[in-house]
Amino acid sequence: MSEITRPTVLVVDDERINRTLLAELLQDECRVVLAKDGASALQRIAQEKITLILLDAMMPDMDGYEVLRRLMTNETTRDIGVIFVTGQADEEDEERGLRLGAVDYITKPIRPLLVRARVRNHLKLALQREELEQLTLRDELTGITNRRGFDQAFDLACRNAVKAGEALGLAMIDVDHFKLYNDHYGHAAGDATLRRVAAVLAGAGQRSSDIIARYGGEEFALVTQRAADLPALLERARTCLEDMEIAHAASPTADWVTISCGGVIAAAAHLKQPDKLLQEADGALYEAKRQGRNRTVIRDMPVAVLVSHADRA
Ligand SMILES: [Mg+2]
Repeated sequence: MSEITRPTVLVVDDERINRTLLAELLQDECRVVLAKDGASALQRIAQEKITLILLDAMMPDMDGYEVLRRLMTNETTRDIGVIFVTGQADEEDEERGLRLGAVDYITKPIRPLLVRARVRNHLKLALQREELEQLTLRDELTGITNRRGFDQAFDLACRNAVKAGEALGLAMIDVDHFKLYNDHYGHAAGDATLRRVAAVLAGAGQRSSDIIARYGGEEFALVTQRAADLPALLERARTCLEDMEIAHAASPTADWVTISCGGVIAAAAHLKQPDKLLQEADGALYEAKRQGRNRTVIRDMPVAVLVSHADRA
């Protein structure tokens, strides 16, 4: 397994000897990262994807209970599994940790085989849960993100862009005359074409952070952090599909299957209302249709802020 796909376990303990011991114990099971206090643990969790946390209950400044409480009140961290590591075998401590939302507890002194077995079990559960979650966010026909997955990812992308003060590019993409295509070639052919369009769009995405989703029917959505590149990205997808020359004898627009793209480039100030952005992209798509289809129409909201962003890129 590569470092990227290996699950990451965060070991939080104020005593170096415990951190070292646990890291050595678990290094074959997962990638291990360390934090020596509650504050740096929370920072680490905000920065990277953590699968499981081994959390020392007793630490100066912010103790494990407080760390756990904060994790549980934050919707982006509340699903991370936490195994509480309590000092003496104090039943009250264990209960308190579990009550706060820990998935398990380990008592010191650490028994290596037991710790490894428990961590292994919880990692397995976490990965299974993640796989299930991923399945519910995937479009069965095309294999790309579905509407539900898009809504989640788009919402998160907007919030991150607002925080970072960066622009975001959003586009709605529609297969031209898809109903006529289905009527002419049948639904099986229609499905195959939707898969090919999805593959073209996925291929046009430049970064792993780009979101490409089937929004519904023959409509797709795309989000990119490289907002200034949105027009080029859409044009690349549009011409790439044209070049595939998927025959569409019933289309008044072209001999081939084509797409219309409506994009909006939004500065951070506009990203607080994701719905508004979707409306704008829809408006641009409508405009592309009105202008004769098989084209890209982009709207800016507003340009001034974006230019400085483009210059930095
Ligand atoms: Mg301690």
